Amino acid sequence: MTVTLPVSGTTVAVEFDPVEVGQRYVSERAKRIRKENLGQFQGLTDVVELDDSDPWTPRSERQSVTETLEVAILGGGFGGLLAGAHLMRNGVTDFRIIEQGGDFGGTWYWNRYPGVQCDVESHVYLPLLEETGYVPTKRYADGAEIFEHAQRIGAHYELYPATLFQTNVTSVVWIEDQQRWEIRTDRDDLLHARFVLRANGPLNKPQVPRVPGIAEFTGRIFHTSRWDYDYTGGSPAGDLVGLHDKRVAIVGTGATGVQAVPFLAEDAKELFVVQRTPSVVGARNNWLTDPQWAANLGPGWQYDRHHNFLSVLNGHHQDENLVDDIWTHLMPALSGQHLIDVPIETLPVEDQMALAAIADMQLMREIHERVDDEVADPATAAALKPWFGFLCKRPTFNDEYLAAFNKPTVHLVAAPDGVESITPTGLVVNGQHYEVDCIVFATGFETGSTPTDRYGYDIIGRDALSLRTHFSDGAKTLHGFFTYGFPNFIELGLSQNAYVVNYTYMLDRKARHAARVVAHAQGAGIGTVEPTLAAQNEWVELTRQSGQQRLAYLSNCTPGYYSGQGDVSRGFFNDVHNVSEVEFWDMIDTWWATGEFEGLVLAPATTTVV
Ligand code: NAP
Repeated sequence: MTVTLPVSGTTVAVEFDPVEVGQRYVSERAKRIRKENLGQFQGLTDVVELDDSDPWTPRSERQSVTETLEVAILGGGFGGLLAGAHLMRNGVTDFRIIEQGGDFGGTWYWNRYPGVQCDVESHVYLPLLEETGYVPTKRYADGAEIFEHAQRIGAHYELYPATLFQTNVTSVVWIEDQQRWEIRTDRDDLLHARFVLRANGPLNKPQVPRVPGIAEFTGRIFHTSRWDYDYTGGSPAGDLVGLHDKRVAIVGTGATGVQAVPFLAEDAKELFVVQRTPSVVGARNNWLTDPQWAANLGPGWQYDRHHNFLSVLNGHHQDENLVDDIWTHLMPALSGQHLIDVPIETLPVEDQMALAAIADMQLMREIHERVDDEVADPATAAALKPWFGFLCKRPTFNDEYLAAFNKPTVHLVAAPDGVESITPTGLVVNGQHYEVDCIVFATGFETGSTPTDRYGYDIIGRDALSLRTHFSDGAKTLHGFFTYGFPNFIELGLSQNAYVVNYTYMLDRKARHAARVVAHAQGAGIGTVEPTLAAQNEWVELTRQSGQQRLAYLSNCTPGYYSGQGDVSRGFFNDVHNVSEVEFWDMIDTWWATGEFEGLVLAPATTTVV
């Protein structure tokens, strides 16, 4: 049919009725909205029977540490690793990293479920490739390779001796007369650090639904981020021989579920895939890195690739699309430029938005066609089709997931209400009992809470101000880094900075900037670095305004963690500064280059510590 854009009258030819599709989105959303929103989930520690302990490293004992330092880095995932690496590169060596896990890697340390992989091209996802002399083996690296790279960075920058592993921070308190933070841990460590750099990750706390009976299940039950290979056998590469005689249920079909299902389907005697909402499953098309290409990479290649990738994603013209992947095709396609003959910027804004909505539906239609191509049974195929805006949920990319449903041993159990209850021998969905030996929760991670809730400790700033309270209605920072009332506290995670797709790139840029600020303070005898309230307020307001369009989009979405499970005020991206990420980092570099530190107050050190 032909759709006419409302203001300019420009016509667009499509093979669907956008009004009908829009109505289907509304009805599918209505089936899934729950009044509890984010409250429908609980942490693993809330269910004694669910194991939250570290499956990968046995606990080792050590002496507690009492030290006075320049920097404490909270977290040893990529954010903390990059902070350590860039501090070292800036000549700041007097720091500690405090990490909950038994090694570096964060999400890649914990998540070792079968099939774990990244869907951002490894040559831009893995940081510091040139600096560490490594080229990933595949276009989309497996989790094991990414974890190894985290270890490589740790070794290369000599971060292991600087790190307290298997250690949880319990309190962080600003001591005004020392101009230092006092950090305590569950190992009785006591650190006094000039700066605290926080890098605790956005998806650090696994969650499961509050389902009645969960504690009564007598079989094996675990979360994907605590995979039990003693039970399943095999490894992240598969060969789950322990499941050959087992009936298994996996609950959840987000990015994790989609990656794990083909491996469970291969080995389980029978597999029940409990799907509340189908995911977008696009083509993956992975390949091995061409050794000749790798051998010919010249100096600066990763910087150029990052810049090109980010530019294409943010709509800045590039003569060449170096990464040429899913994301670089997806983002321009969502504008709808390919559906009209005139340059999109010549259309009135209202028409641009109407066109974008049509382009979004067009992409979803292609996702539906892919399901029909891959899944033999029409009823199963219909149930696997997602009906929501393309960016309502994290799209997934997998070449084996859909075909797994063609196996006679694999059953799709689709229900907008999800799991109703769990019994000692199975689970109930749509009123039907499914008897299983094992339940795997691929139900994601806590979001929407303030970071300090998720991390289990508060940060107490000047005048006993609690960061938990201060951020309870959203982050308050200058540029996503500095917070008034919390001197020398720098946020390295996603917080009021620009961000799109490549999380580790954002972490790298944040770490680089934080490290140069710390190095400058150390060299110039600066005691405290803190934003003015006015500069912070201005940034908070700019961030809020920049998010309005995204918020409007998400408020029509079927629930998920992007949309705060229906409460958009607690959506995952609410604290993102929605401008071009290229322009954002250029702004930060310009801000730095002036040497004026506009919006920051740099006060001299009043104490010296021997
Ligand atoms: P997720 O995206 O939050 O997905 C959770 C799944 O559990 C959803 O399918 C959800 O259904 C389902 N669920 C929740 N409660 C349920 C219930 N009561 N009954 C049945 N199903 C229920 O979590 P995730 O898959 O672990 O992914 C989290 C994030 O990790 C991703 O979004 C991504 O950012 C990251 N990740 C990335 C990659 C990668 O390749 N880069 C791979 C894995 C993970 P609804 O959709 O209906 O809520």
